[in-house]
Amino acid sequence: MAYKTFDFSKFSSIRVGPIAEVFMIEDFDYPQNHTLIGGANNLLIGPNHPPLMKLSKKFDTIKIENNQLIIGASTPGGKVVSFCKKNNIANFEFMAHLPGTVGGMIEMNAGLKEYEIFNHLISCRFKDGVKLKKEIKHGYRFTDIDDVVFEATFEIQEGFKEENIEMFKKMRANQPSNFSAGSFFKNPQGDYAGRLIEAVGLKGHRIGDMAWSEQHSNFLINFGEGTFEEAMELVELAHLRVQKTFSISLENEVIVLNT
Ligand SMILES: Cc1cc2nc3c(=O)[nH]c(=O)nc-3n(C[C@H](O)[C@H](O)[C@H](O)COP(=O)(O)OP(=O)(O)OC[C@H]3O[C@@H](n4cnc5c(N)ncnc54)[C@H](O)[C@@H]3O)c2cc1C
Repeated sequence: MAYKTFDFSKFSSIRVGPIAEVFMIEDFDYPQNHTLIGGANNLLIGPNHPPLMKLSKKFDTIKIENNQLIIGASTPGGKVVSFCKKNNIANFEFMAHLPGTVGGMIEMNAGLKEYEIFNHLISCRFKDGVKLKKEIKHGYRFTDIDDVVFEATFEIQEGFKEENIEMFKKMRANQPSNFSAGSFFKNPQGDYAGRLIEAVGLKGHRIGDMAWSEQHSNFLINFGEGTFEEAMELVELAHLRVQKTFSISLENEVIVLNT
């Protein structure tokens, strides 16, 4: 069994978390009691996290076969964009400013507005075989995937659009550049989590080195030395105040791994 050491205060996008041993998946033989991670761009990992596993570099692959694009699930989005640019392939430009691996993106149907990774997906390979897109329940930032995606196959359309990269960059203009895990809460039906956090007086609220961003209230940001405890204190505060003021129970979008 091959484990690799990760320092999540350096590896995760929010720069919070312990040093941990992570099981590296090399083939279909992986432990069933471990929690899967990808590039840790949508995670907040605490000191009491479950055992972790992650696809190895073996699954960082990208190729064209039978006019289809076949991508290993540990391939980072940036690499997909470079490949598509080189081969004049359309529809993957949105990944240029979306941090994560293809596996992590598929699991939550990640995207920007209506540009989602499922739009041009054909199928995914799992340990037990291949599932077509129509066999996977999916919607806005949601799928019913609960097993390891090893590889994904996409349809190919010609015409990489450089101008789309610029458009996606502009869409991000209101987001802070500090360390974060993206939007922390899902937007409740008909409202915005950021608006609610601001309305209960938490915009810019800081505890230690963690804060609800001044720039976008639904981003939990780390000024550098933030801790898991500080992060959870802010999350709890937002939950309590929004519940008390609006009777809305905010749901996490970021996955908190701590028992
Ligand atoms: C600054 C910033 C901005 C962001 N903006 C957006 C945005 O606009 N839109 C958006 O959709 N997301 C956004 N995100 C969130 C993030 O980009 C996505 O959630 C991305 O899909 C995370 O991929 P990851 O590889 O880092 O997965 P991780 O964060 O490591 O894991 C996330 C989930 O994916 C699962 N997973 C990982 N790999 C696999 C696999 N191979 N098979 C099955 N499941 C797997 C994990 O078990 C976990 O449940 C943003 C994040 C940051 C930091």
